[in-house]
Amino acid sequence: MLQIKNLHARIADDGTEILRGVDLSIPKGEVHAIMGPNGSGKSTLSYVIAGKEEYEVTEGEILLDGENILEMDPHERANAGLFLAFQYPIEIPGVATMTFLRTALNAKRKAEGLEELSTPDFMRVVKEKAAELNISSDMLKRPLNVGFSGGEKKRNEIMQMALLEPKMGILDETDSGLDIDALKVVADGVNALRGADRGFLVITHYQRLLDHIVPDYVHVLSGGKIVKSGDKELALELEAKGYADIIADAA
Ligand code: ADP
Ligand code: MG
Ligand code: MG
Repeated sequence: MLQIKNLHARIADDGTEILRGVDLSIPKGEVHAIMGPNGSGKSTLSYVIAGKEEYEVTEGEILLDGENILEMDPHERANAGLFLAFQYPIEIPGVATMTFLRTALNAKRKAEGLEELSTPDFMRVVKEKAAELNISSDMLKRPLNVGFSGGEKKRNEIMQMALLEPKMGILDETDSGLDIDALKVVADGVNALRGADRGFLVITHYQRLLDHIVPDYVHVLSGGKIVKSGDKELALELEAKGYADIIADAA
């Protein structure tokens, strides 16, 4: 359902090419992990999928259920069923997290031709999802991301994802700042939301996340290209041997 074909992308400002021909297909129901050394282009790949303006696609395509998302702006991509976990990392002091989630959900419903949810209906849905995910809904009364711990930010992201029910969830777990609790929140959330109709792309520098989210496939990104793919054993091999050896073997 998500197909990336020969994707080349550069930094719009200075023309530096970062992605140099990425090929990747994630069928419905599968969880794929991308690993790779620092600077290999992992975050750039997720930003390009999200439609961040900083990057320019010079070649290739990205299709979601056969539709070319490169022609869509970021919110159209979200409405088409893509969820990027870093989509809303901003702090919004005056706005309760609950209000924010309701706005996001109603925007998506509107794009699908559905009616907005009333406050009581929305509250009911939130309570159901929170219970399924084992998340306390108390946090949702607080202003969005303001003073949230790493774990609370992650709970909020997972809650957004559960409400928006995307076709494809993309999580870029950046190299720093995820303690073991936050990591467990992400893993439990992804595992709870895994299913036959949904795919996931989990981007991570470290193998330890994949102890908790067992991926169907693992891909190694290096120099803006996927240089090796395998099953979950590849993540363990990376942990044991390090990126340098695996990348040299693949070359
Ligand atoms: P990763 O997430 O794998 O660590 P990134 O995608 O963040 O890698 O970065 C890949 C390379 O592109 C790095 O060398 C980084 O410095 C560079 N890069 C990415 N985005 C920008 C940008 N907006 N401006 C300048 N350099 C960038
Ligand atoms: Mg990095
Ligand atoms: Mg990164």
